[in-house]
Amino acid sequence: MNQEIRRCTRCILPGNYPNIDFDENGVCRVCREHDARYSGIDWEARRLKLERILDRYRGKGIKYDVLVPFSGGKDSTYTLWTLKNTYGMRCLAFNFDNGFQDPGALAFVKRSAARLGVDLITYSPDAELLKKVYRRALEATGEFCSACVVLMPTAIFRAADTQGIRLIAAGFSDMLEAPPRETSYMDRVCFRNIMKGYVPLRDLKWDYFFPSWKRMFRVKQINLPDYIQWDLPMIYETLNRELDFGKSMGDLRYDCLATPHSSYLFRLRTGFGKYTYLYANMVRSGVISREEALETVNRREPGSPPGDFGSFLASLGSDESVLEGIGDKTVFNFRKRNSTIRKLAIKLREMLP
Ligand SMILES: [Zn+2]
Repeated sequence: MNQEIRRCTRCILPGNYPNIDFDENGVCRVCREHDARYSGIDWEARRLKLERILDRYRGKGIKYDVLVPFSGGKDSTYTLWTLKNTYGMRCLAFNFDNGFQDPGALAFVKRSAARLGVDLITYSPDAELLKKVYRRALEATGEFCSACVVLMPTAIFRAADTQGIRLIAAGFSDMLEAPPRETSYMDRVCFRNIMKGYVPLRDLKWDYFFPSWKRMFRVKQINLPDYIQWDLPMIYETLNRELDFGKSMGDLRYDCLATPHSSYLFRLRTGFGKYTYLYANMVRSGVISREEALETVNRREPGSPPGDFGSFLASLGSDESVLEGIGDKTVFNFRKRNSTIRKLAIKLREMLP
C-alpha cells in the first residue's frame, strides 16, 4: 500500500506530512533542518560542560547524586550505564509504569538495575484515575498520549524532589523521539483545560502539575544526548555486551503497549501513523536503512485498526464512538495561553548551574 505516495528520498516522510516540501533531489524539509541543526556541533565542548555539571552534583545528595528515568529502552539504559560507570555518579533509577509497560521491559529494568548496582524505584500511579484521564483526553482531543506527556515529567520531578535529589539526567533525544510540532502539543494549561469539568483538579494536583517555580528551580534537568554524541552502534554494542540488552538497531525503542493504538488514532487524524515519523527519524540518524524503515512502517501501519483495538478502548471505558469526527479533534483546540513566560522560565533554569 501507499506505493503512490511521494516520499522523501532520504528518510521516508510522506507528502502529507505537515508543511513538507522536497528539494530538487527529493530530500524533505525535515531532513534539511536536521542537517542544519546537528552539523558542526563541538562535542568536546559539550562533554566538558557535562563534566562540569556532574562535578557540581557528585557527592552532594544525601544518598543519591542524580535521578535517572529508566524505561529499559536503549537511551535511558545507556544514560544510566554511563552516569554510573563512566562518571561515577550515585544514581537512583526511576521507572514509570503507566499500565502499558511491556513485561519484558520491566523485567530488563529490574535485572539491569541489579547488575549495575543501583537502587530502583517503580512508580505506578492510580490506574483508575489514569484511565479516566486517558479516556477524557481521547474523547476530547482524539489522542491519549498527552496524559503521559504531562504525567511522566511530573512524576520524575516529584520523585527527585521527595528524595532530595537536585539533578535529573534523562536519555531523551529530540533527534529520535520528537513528534511533528504541527500535530503534537501539550502544556499544563492546555491539559487543565481538557480535564476541566471531568477530573477534579485536587485529584490531579500531585501527579499532573508541578509545584511552585521555587521548588522547580532547585532541580536541574538535563538530557545526556545533548552533551555526548549518541553513537547508536556503539550504544547497542555496549548494552548487549554489558547488560544482555538483547535488541538490535531495527527494534523500535517504544515499549509502551498502547503505541499501536495511539499510532492508529494519529493516522486517522493526520493521514500517517506515528511509526512513520519515528522510523523516519531512525533513518535520518543512520540507525536503519530507508528500505527497512519502509517495510516496517507498511507492516505496522496497515490502515486498519490493531486487532485488539476494541478491547483497548473498552479497557479505558470507551468505545468506537470516539472515532466520530476524530479528524476535527486536536489538543490545539484547548491551547489557550501564550506560553512565552513558561518558555523563558525553562530557558532561565537551563542556564543556571
Ligand atoms: Zn526526509
